[in-house]
Amino acid sequence: MIASVINEAQPAQPAATGVRVYARSEHNISRAQISENALKVLYKLQKEGYDAYLVGGCVRDLLLGREPKDFDVVTNADPEQIRKVFRNCRLIGRRFRLAHVHFGREVIEVATFRGAGEAQNDQQMLNKEGRLLRDNVYGTIEEDVWRRDFTVNALYYNIKDFSVVDYVGGMADHQAATLRLIGDPVTRFREDPVRMLRAVRFAVKLGFKLHPNCEAAMHEVSELLSSIPSARLYDESLKLFLSGYSLQTFEMLRHYGLFQVLFPATENSLAIEDNGFPRLLLIKALENSDQRIAEGKTVTAYFLFAAFLWEPVQMRAQEKIARGMIEFMAYQDAANEVIASQVRSTALPRHITLAMREVWSLQPKFNARYGSKPSRLISHPRFRAGYDFLVLRAETGGADPELAKWWGKYQLADENEQRKMTQPPRKAAGGKPTRKRTYRNKPKSNPASDTAD
Ligand code: ATP
Ligand code: MG
Repeated sequence: MIASVINEAQPAQPAATGVRVYARSEHNISRAQISENALKVLYKLQKEGYDAYLVGGCVRDLLLGREPKDFDVVTNADPEQIRKVFRNCRLIGRRFRLAHVHFGREVIEVATFRGAGEAQNDQQMLNKEGRLLRDNVYGTIEEDVWRRDFTVNALYYNIKDFSVVDYVGGMADHQAATLRLIGDPVTRFREDPVRMLRAVRFAVKLGFKLHPNCEAAMHEVSELLSSIPSARLYDESLKLFLSGYSLQTFEMLRHYGLFQVLFPATENSLAIEDNGFPRLLLIKALENSDQRIAEGKTVTAYFLFAAFLWEPVQMRAQEKIARGMIEFMAYQDAANEVIASQVRSTALPRHITLAMREVWSLQPKFNARYGSKPSRLISHPRFRAGYDFLVLRAETGGADPELAKWWGKYQLADENEQRKMTQPPRKAAGGKPTRKRTYRNKPKSNPASDTAD
């Protein structure tokens, strides 16, 4: 049982000395900050005689005065009872039954308290690394609390008296801006290694520091992350990198040895300089993506994944070219191989890999500036993403900045201007066309050059 692990194996943590209730006057959560629909759910459950609390990220975020991403409700009503209370309700989940109460586009998730369960019984099973495989018993709030990951995620806002109920010292940790796992950190990370990714995500998003024993445990068991199914790691990687803090997240994941589990080929490529130059494209892509989110613009997963895997594709393609393969084939094969190996870590869906390939395969096409090709390229459905990727390469020494500039100008030009821009240059005196040259990481000023990579 997790609760007994906490008391026996965790002298460094304050023992769970029982519940501490923070009355309404002792905290800053006001109902005005809570979604109306979440309040409706809480009040309705209460009216039907059940206990009802907000829990998890929403309480943590409300205490910081931030708007929560979503509101999670927890109750002692079981899923069938919840269903009877709400007409607009659907039960979901196999591992743990949850109720989704629908209000137009807003969904309030209502969970039943989880029980502590008995390890090895038929409802809660650990694998040989200590990972929780199945977990499906209902219980009380006192049991539910120990199933949660961090103390700051285990605070319960009680609709009955608007108090915050704290069994694990979460309020003190919240005030100290500390992420502390409930119980023995190594045990909790073994149970669910994804908690390591959550630790990084929350530390970055909230500006909290990791408790030292949580940090130490992370260094110890980081490689266990590789035991997590690739579909779940894909979902987590989206949360990590589409958060608006992707650069900091990336750096922190690398620090704890977690990035190499998610993106092994990328990690490898970062260790090898390109002709004495560090590979900066990914960093720039993350920076831009954070900037876009800060400006309220959208970012697409495929663009970021294309940036993550660009250098590995380059490296493989270059090897193949050196062995005599023609460039086009080398890039095709390299892309296939890199994607095939990446999906073993994070299961990229097909629509994502297709879009990534398109962005990559557009890159050499940007070299053709003359004749009818540019006007055809500009009407390609992925032109904009391809162009943004070209700009990224140009900014980080992988493509000719003049080429990127040219395409920037071409897009904005009127038809007449576009026609002028795509006229082939007059040949040099000897009749020789402008010389092509390979362009990689050392941009020299050669505006006439028509090639990138
Ligand atoms: P976010 O702001 O990203 O929604 P959150 O803390 O609400 O953060 P959720 O994934 O929505 O994260 O989970 C809700 C709550 O469920 C968490 O606060 C935590 O108490 C618990 N929880 C979620 N995932 C885990 C996990 N892997 N291990 C233990 N507890 C978890
Ligand atoms: Mg949440």
